[in-house]
Parts: sequence; structure tokens; C-alpha cells
Amino acid sequence: MSKDGTAQRRARLSRRAALLTVPIAGALTASAAEPAADKALPRLDPNDPIARDLAYYENAADVDTSNEMAAHYLPGQTCNNCAQIQGDARDAWRPCTIFPGKSVAGAGWCGVWVEKV
Ligand code: SF4
Repeated sequence: MSKDGTAQRRARLSRRAALLTVPIAGALTASAAEPAADKALPRLDPNDPIARDLAYYENAADVDTSNEMAAHYLPGQTCNNCAQIQGDARDAWRPCTIFPGKSVAGAGWCGVWVEKV
């Protein structure tokens, strides 16, 4: 094979490798970014006015049933088994449809709790 032929073949292989590498790198970047976006959500502050109105607790064991919004609380109810929770069940803090842009404690609870079916 001539030197020109070898150089052309190397250039073709290099271009092919570049074309294959870009989509794979893009896919890896996208899949790595999604969980990070959930984890980056700020934690809901129990003293946030809406959280207080809905009797949100970071730990369901601390629920005060004398609070009108929490009077229906039953032991065993947590954010982790609420229909409103989203995200990865392995995460301690997860998004909730009731508190957009925030993460709630999986061990938490609020007065909007609805059984996940
Ligand atoms: S709606 Fe459900 S998941 Fe969201 S904070 Fe209340 S109990 Fe937790």
C-alpha cells in the first residue's frame, strides 16, 4: 500500500471514530445530568409558609396531630409511600408534585399525603 493510501485510510478511520464518539459522549453527558438535576433541588424548608400551611415535617415521626392539617396522620405514612413523590426511590430527598422546585424528605410527611397505589 502506498503512503498516500495509508494516510487516507487513517484519515477515514479518524473521522469515523469522531462521528461515533460524539453521540456516545452526548448520551453519557445527558444521562449523568438528569439525576444530578433532581439532586440539585433545594430541600423544602419546613418553615416555608406553604410547607407550614400543609403541615410538612421532615420526619413523619415528628408529626403533631394536634395540628388541624395533620389530624388525619397515621403511623407508617411517609413521603416515600405518597402518590405525590417523584424521582428515584433510593434517594433520601426527592421531588414532590405539591412543592415544585424543591425536594422533600422521603421520611417526611405533609397533610396532602395520598396513598400510592
Ligand atoms: S404531598 Fe406527599 S410526598 Fe409531597 S410532601 Fe406531602 S406527603 Fe410528602
